[in-house]
Amino acid sequence: MSPPVFRFAPSPNGHLHLGHAYSALLNERMARETGGRFLLRIEDIDLGRCRPEYEIAILEDLEWLGLEWETPVRRQSEHFASYALALQRLYSQGLVYPSFMSRKDIDAAFRSSGGVWPRDPHGAPAYPSLEREMDPEALARRVEAGEDHALRLDMAKAVMLFHHDLEWTETGPDGQQRVIADPEAWGDIILARKDAPTSYHLSVTIDDALQDVTHIVRGTDLYRSTSIHRLLQQLLGLPEPVYHHHNLLTAPDGLKLAKSAGSPSLRSLREQGVGPADIRRQLGF
Ligand code: GLU
Repeated sequence: MSPPVFRFAPSPNGHLHLGHAYSALLNERMARETGGRFLLRIEDIDLGRCRPEYEIAILEDLEWLGLEWETPVRRQSEHFASYALALQRLYSQGLVYPSFMSRKDIDAAFRSSGGVWPRDPHGAPAYPSLEREMDPEALARRVEAGEDHALRLDMAKAVMLFHHDLEWTETGPDGQQRVIADPEAWGDIILARKDAPTSYHLSVTIDDALQDVTHIVRGTDLYRSTSIHRLLQQLLGLPEPVYHHHNLLTAPDGLKLAKSAGSPSLRSLREQGVGPADIRRQLGF
């Protein structure tokens, strides 16, 4: 039997902080304890926010922490063609349509509704799916005219393709259990962004399958997104990994580390004289 495969998949849009270190160390420990492999993947599809200097810093910080991973490291921006292929497959199943509404348009529609509007699992005003009902030829003409657009999944149609419940195995802090996925709570998710030929959900799902990842260990902030990933796996005929969503570290102000103004980066801790062994000890490794 092939060994289990784990991965840590940061986005190079800033410096790593303690929360990232925890996730990376947990992945590496689980790989070590199960005789598995540990991969690092750079998730840089957002070319506007990701920077090569952050990628270099990520590699340096992880090395400083004492982590070792397999090379070559997969960089998502080099694999847009793989995502396009998957998108084409969903498109040919009639599951994809162009969407011109911006986040601003959605927020404006939400405000003008007086707040009687659903929210997505992260609390943002839900996309109203209005364009799904529009004349496909009129939408196609706007695409041909070069109007900026995203590509969305027709969620209602996608979930109809299943005659069985969509679930996943979760091994997080509450112990092992089967969790029922609820992709519909997200509505018609974006598969390709206006500014990138893919989306987080599409590329993460494709890459985990292409890299034979068997165990996805990441923070609970992505717990609800797993419903979408399970749906995309089913639609694209990809295998089902095991998921382990770990608790997020919080700063003294109670905010998630990444969001907290008081959250120090690993580099700033290093500059203050903190060593890798101190970090490991503080995080329980
Ligand atoms: N790239 C994502 C992030 O930095 C993590 C993706 C994942 O672990 O599934 O939040």
